[in-house]
Amino acid sequence: MHPIRYNNLMFTDTHCHLSYLSERGFDLSAVLAELALSHVPCVIDAGTKAGDLSERIALITDALSRISTNGTLSDMISASGRSPEDIKKEALALIRYTAGIWPDPDAIKDREAQIKTLRSVVERSLKGEDGLPSVCCIGECGHDHHWNIAGADHRDEADFASAAMFNAESELFEMQIELAREFNLPVMVHTRDAFEYSYDSIKNMGYNNGEIHCFSYSIEEARKFLDLGWYIALGGGVTYTKKSKQEAMDTLIRYIPDDMLLLETDAPYLAPVPERGKPNSPLLIKHTYAYIAERRGITPEKLAELVLTNTRHLYGN
Ligand SMILES: [Zn+2]
Repeated sequence: MHPIRYNNLMFTDTHCHLSYLSERGFDLSAVLAELALSHVPCVIDAGTKAGDLSERIALITDALSRISTNGTLSDMISASGRSPEDIKKEALALIRYTAGIWPDPDAIKDREAQIKTLRSVVERSLKGEDGLPSVCCIGECGHDHHWNIAGADHRDEADFASAAMFNAESELFEMQIELAREFNLPVMVHTRDAFEYSYDSIKNMGYNNGEIHCFSYSIEEARKFLDLGWYIALGGGVTYTKKSKQEAMDTLIRYIPDDMLLLETDAPYLAPVPERGKPNSPLLIKHTYAYIAERRGITPEKLAELVLTNTRHLYGN
């Protein structure tokens, strides 16, 4: 895979899954080196399982250790005129981590134990124990009622045949909002085909601090979340809106205030046009920036600047 040059445009990616990139054919070392060489200021690696933080960090640490002047990265590194150590340092500094529990049926059923594990992970991370970096938020967590057993999430409607499962899913989400409140952290919300459920949980908890990741609803739902103070994160999916929905999408893109907008890849999923259908990486977010900047009538540079400001405002420096 050829690295993409994007001229130091500082494209923040507020949500991706770096640990899945290798499975999708990426050389994670090359991606990390390229991010550092392109001066990407911040990439947030999102957790999905209660205890996955150490594993994710181990994978990234291993990939960083392979950044050297030998092998496949040698050309890229020598052309940059920078030392591998310098690049590693920059790559390490730009990655932020979250910890959270995605609403998987098994996790929902086992929610009490799962929350216990998550609490201990967050506590250790915030204290810097076991060499863990501080997590910047709780998530991704929320609701998913998009049934597609063949999809990446393997959603099976049969798992949710009872009302009890829907309630338990909300309970798992609300326990994570409570945890975020306890640790004074923002929440990264996953909500797909389940607006009422997620909105009810959020209203119910009265803790409005976080983002709606990969926002997939319309302008009315955006307004409701924005009114409560939630940031809206758009992903590559916006670049392949159906023709019949293009106008509504453009209105939504312009509707989100400058100070409430975030941009993400959800890599390795949802690659933006013109890479749609291929595995996604944070390096491809430039296409989403170009698409959204054009519709908002600003330059990608200006958009990059405001997304970075919003990211720092929500998740700290
Ligand atoms: Zn995700």
